Amino acid sequence: MYKKLEMFYEGKAKRVYKTVVDQEYIVSYKDDATAFNGEKRGTILNKGEVNNQMSAMIFKLLQELGVENHFIALINEREMLVKAVEIIPLEVIVRNITAGAMAKRLGLEEGIRMKFPVLEFSYKNDQLSDPFINDDYAVALNIASQWEIQCIRNMALKTNEILREFFIEKNILLVDFKLEFGRYENRIILADEISPDTCRLWDATNNEKLDKDRFRRDLGKVEEAYQEVLNRLKA
Ligand code: UDP
Repeated sequence: MYKKLEMFYEGKAKRVYKTVVDQEYIVSYKDDATAFNGEKRGTILNKGEVNNQMSAMIFKLLQELGVENHFIALINEREMLVKAVEIIPLEVIVRNITAGAMAKRLGLEEGIRMKFPVLEFSYKNDQLSDPFINDDYAVALNIASQWEIQCIRNMALKTNEILREFFIEKNILLVDFKLEFGRYENRIILADEISPDTCRLWDATNNEKLDKDRFRRDLGKVEEAYQEVLNRLKA
């Protein structure tokens, strides 16, 4: 039913294929894992299946609650059908709790709950290692318009509210996450993926990490953590 035509893009974690419909792509999720801007490489068994299924579940939920996104349908365990968007080269990060690059940059310990969610932008450019920028740079350098930034801000914060509640019901803390947005017709819609590759997810009881930090930091039980998240979401 869903016919894959030629692959036209291969990223670090996904392949994107054209379909017989111009406005629709097929995304195929890989098991390949990279960290530190591609310096660390490996494989996480079944990661592609977990990330595809988790993203599908979350995109569906967001769609129902009014956050328009690129998801159309789940095709199989590793593949989904999506709307073809023009990706805006911004990594939009939402943080609820200090962790990762932010904690390091500011000399803070991980795990401090912030007074309100903090939004952060990076310019999506591997050669430059996704440098930190702010919304003024994005507008001044024509990466996105003022109106697009406002849409992105509103959608990112709404996504955070929805996902925080969704995860806490599964006894998972949503520490931080990265979103990407795209242009579709004359609108801005959410795209890319939402998975343990792109979110920091901690067990709410013991703060155990259930995300890509297990791979980045060689904490072991990487596959198990990804599977555990999917199992909890499905339960
Ligand atoms: N993140 C991502 N892709 C990136 C950079 C970050 O998905 O290229 C996610 C990361 O998994 C985390 C959040 O964005 O959930 C914040 O990451 P941070 O800025 O702390 O960078 P990191 O410590 O991951 O390098």
